Amino acid sequence: MNDYKTNLLSLLPEDLESLMSTLGQPRYRAMQIFERIHSGNGATLDDVTNIPASLREKLRESGYDVFPVRIAERLESKLDGTKKYLFALHDGNVIESVLMEYKHGYSICISSQVGCRMGCSFCASTVDGRIRDLDAGEMLGQIYEIQKNEGIRIHSLVVMGSGEPMDNFDNLVRFVKLISHPKGMNLSGRNITVSTCGLTEKMRELADMKFALTLAVSLHSPTDELRRTFMPVAKKYSISEIMDAADYYFEQTGRRVTFEYSLIKGVNDTPECAQELSKLLAGKNTHVNLIPVNPIKERNWERSSDNNVSAFKLMLEKNRINATIRRGMGADIDAACGQLRRRYLGL
Ligand code: SAH
Repeated sequence: MNDYKTNLLSLLPEDLESLMSTLGQPRYRAMQIFERIHSGNGATLDDVTNIPASLREKLRESGYDVFPVRIAERLESKLDGTKKYLFALHDGNVIESVLMEYKHGYSICISSQVGCRMGCSFCASTVDGRIRDLDAGEMLGQIYEIQKNEGIRIHSLVVMGSGEPMDNFDNLVRFVKLISHPKGMNLSGRNITVSTCGLTEKMRELADMKFALTLAVSLHSPTDELRRTFMPVAKKYSISEIMDAADYYFEQTGRRVTFEYSLIKGVNDTPECAQELSKLLAGKNTHVNLIPVNPIKERNWERSSDNNVSAFKLMLEKNRINATIRRGMGADIDAACGQLRRRYLGL
C-alpha cells in the first residue's frame, strides 16, 4: 500500500537506535520510545510524551508511526467468559484473537497471518487462502489492545489463531524477541506456545535459536496416508520428518514438544488410530492435546462423540502417553480459528 508507514511497534531496540542516529537524535531516545510503546497498554505515538513533540512529528514525517490494531467487535461467551476480539488492521483487513481465563491467569490466542495457505480441511482460517502476513507489531497489538481494554496483564500466550506462524517466520522471531524483552512485556519464553502444522525446516531453525518456547505440532493423524486426506501440507512433510524435527527441538531446547490431535468423527478417532499414535510416540517425552473438532459450515466434518474422545485418551494413557482433552472454550461465540472473521465479512 502506498500510504503504508513503518510500524514502530515492530522495531527492536537496535533498529530504533539506528533510526535515532539517522534522524540525528541521541541514542537514549530509542529506549525511551521502546519502553513507552511496549508498556503493554496500547500506547500510540501521541502517548510517547517522554520525547519532544518535535521528534514525534519528525518520526511521522519520516514515515514512522505506531499502528495498534483497532477493536472492531468483542464477544463474550456466556458459557465460560472467554472473550473473542475481532481487530481491524490499518489496511482494512480483519483478524481475530481470543482471551481465556484459567486458574493460573489470562491467556491470549493470537493470529499470525490474515487467512492461511496451509489448507487443512477442517479449519475456517484457510478457506480463502492467505491474504497477508502480520508484522510483529500487529501480533503484539492484539495483546496490548486486549490488555488495555480489559485492564489486565496476560500470563501466557499461544500463537494458535489464524495463520501458520512458521510460514511468517521472520516476523514471528521478531515478535518473540519483542514480547520477551526485559524493557517490554518481559514475558518468559516458557509462557509462550507456538503451534505449527509441521514445517520442519523452520522447526529446526527455531530450535537453533534456543528460545525457551513450547512448540506444539498439529499432527491430527498417526499415518501419512490418512494425514494427507485432510492436511495438504502432509504431501510435503512426512510424519517421520516431523518426528525427527520434534526430537531435534527437544534436544536443542530441553522443551517437551506437544502434539495436537483434533478428533474428527469416523476419520481419525478410531481405536486403531489411538494404537498407531501410541506406537509413534512411545518412549518420547511428549504430551498430546486432544481437541474434539469444532465443525465449520464450509465442511461436513463432525466432532467425535464424548465417548470416543474419552476412549481415545484412555488408550493413549494405557500406553503411557500423556494426554489431555482440551476444554472447548467459547463454543457459543465462534471461537474456532477464523470462524468469527468469516461471519463478520459475510462469508
Ligand atoms: N497453523 C498452525 C496454528 C494455527 S491452527 C497449526 O496448524 O498448528 C491451531 C490449531 O487448531 C491447530 O492444531 C489446528 O489444526 C487446530 N484447528 C483448526 N481448526 C480447527 C477446528 N475447526 N477444530 C479443531 N481444531 C482446529
